[in-house]
Amino acid sequence: MRAIVFERRGALALIDRPEPAVGPKDVLVKPAAVGMCGTDVHVFDGEFEGTVYPLVPGHEATGEVVAVGTEVRALRPGDHVAVNPSTTCGECEFCLNGQQNICLKWNGLGVVAADGACQEFFAAPLANCYKLRPETDLYQAALIEPLACSIRGYDLLPRRMGQHYLIYGAGTMGLIMAQLAPRAGAASVTIVDLNSDRLKTASELGFDKIYTSADQAARAQWDVVIDCTGAIKAVEDGLTRVKPGGHFQNFGVAPADRTAAYSPFRVYRGEITINGSMAVHNSFGRAVEMFEAGAINPGPMISHSFTLEDYSKALDMFRAGSGRKLQIRPHDARSRVLLP
Ligand SMILES: [Zn+2]
Ligand SMILES: [Zn+2]
Repeated sequence: MRAIVFERRGALALIDRPEPAVGPKDVLVKPAAVGMCGTDVHVFDGEFEGTVYPLVPGHEATGEVVAVGTEVRALRPGDHVAVNPSTTCGECEFCLNGQQNICLKWNGLGVVAADGACQEFFAAPLANCYKLRPETDLYQAALIEPLACSIRGYDLLPRRMGQHYLIYGAGTMGLIMAQLAPRAGAASVTIVDLNSDRLKTASELGFDKIYTSADQAARAQWDVVIDCTGAIKAVEDGLTRVKPGGHFQNFGVAPADRTAAYSPFRVYRGEITINGSMAVHNSFGRAVEMFEAGAINPGPMISHSFTLEDYSKALDMFRAGSGRKLQIRPHDARSRVLLP
């Protein structure tokens, strides 16, 4: 079968190799769609701490179960699943404290040391596979993984009615965070992105306070500011716009070796809370429920799909910042433009 392999930092190949082995508690999945995100670019560029090459990328996947291990009872061939890519050691201080997402040996399928979904078939532990309703759109459901990360982000923010939210980034993460904000009590949601094409998606999703700089907004300060870009300038700008008593969240993934400047005096004087949110934590099952309940509008969010052969094209397009959510569909015969 065909598989995309990141052979080393900055080098990838489409190779032919045997189907993955299925352990007694594993499930073999035929992927329908695999979302591409900034993490994949960081992993390819060697900027994600801990990545072990060679590695098959792809951590935002849905698919159909085609085989199960000898001890698996909860799923069977034909079931549709969304796959939580996070696996943890279960033994370190953080795992034992119930903080598995900051496990010392945190391993994301397709991110650290276990193969992901950009291949014709991939194996995942049963515990990571969440059954979907048969009628759930398997392509759109590849947004469940980023939704699960977003729910984790909201778990770390206050739930207070009538707050004003400022979100940096109108990519997939920013748009999901923005769509969830009213459910967390937002009175208003402002979205900033340097790329005005991305703001068009925000507009299609019903947002009207959309700007290329927060300076253009009528408001000067916000209760909750969420960076969904990982860009240092956005983080630095966002920290200056938090209201006293407010919250700032580092949600986007910045390169591991970069630092940002902020005013410790302002944080002190205004009792500003800064937090970070890392991947999925007890939030995948809730993401499935919320996705199937229609909590986000996936239609305007996914713009292109690519075959395994065109993986590099998808990566180039992602880097160029064009398109919306890009997906790899390993069993498709051709790449497609899904939105004009
Ligand atoms: Zn991702
Ligand atoms: Zn651990």
